Amino acid sequence: MKALKHLQTINHHKLLVMKHCFKVGLYKQGLLHDLSKYSPTEFLVGCKYYQGTRSPNNAEREATGYSTAWLHHKGRNKHHYEYWIDYSIVPGEGIVGQKMPVKYVYEMFMDRIAASKTYLGDKYTDKEPLQYYEKGAAKLGKMIHPETAALIHKLLKMLAEKGERATFKYVREQVRELKRQHMI
Ligand SMILES: [Zn+2]
Repeated sequence: MKALKHLQTINHHKLLVMKHCFKVGLYKQGLLHDLSKYSPTEFLVGCKYYQGTRSPNNAEREATGYSTAWLHHKGRNKHHYEYWIDYSIVPGEGIVGQKMPVKYVYEMFMDRIAASKTYLGDKYTDKEPLQYYEKGAAKLGKMIHPETAALIHKLLKMLAEKGERATFKYVREQVRELKRQHMI
């Protein structure tokens, strides 16, 4: 039963991200988003720790101290800023978040909207993804590149203030410009 529910949750989330990505012209990313969730390493853990109201990775972490599913996931999916954490080339700086290509920041934006919608259902509003981000942002420190943080924050604020229609229109125009410059 948990397996079926987990499958429904990840399918629902993936479909939402796909719809959002398609609206702004990110077709390939819309199709390929989060495919590793269907790999046994991630899927079986997701079934075992299915929650319904939050990520099963949190439950796995509480049970064992760390999430094998998340460690697998973040290493394979470029729309997570955690994918881009690496040693700095600046001597003495240590491990930092590298700047994400903007197409993945747009996918991260869609991912956050879809995750909020999936877990909140009827309670979702355009302000929720911003509130969720701001709750965690102060603790990120050097783990996210300042330009990446500024862009995702700007998009989430735009969503909260102007709504989905206007914000998606803005992203669509940005994506169109990137395509014109052959950067996607
Ligand atoms: Zn993901």
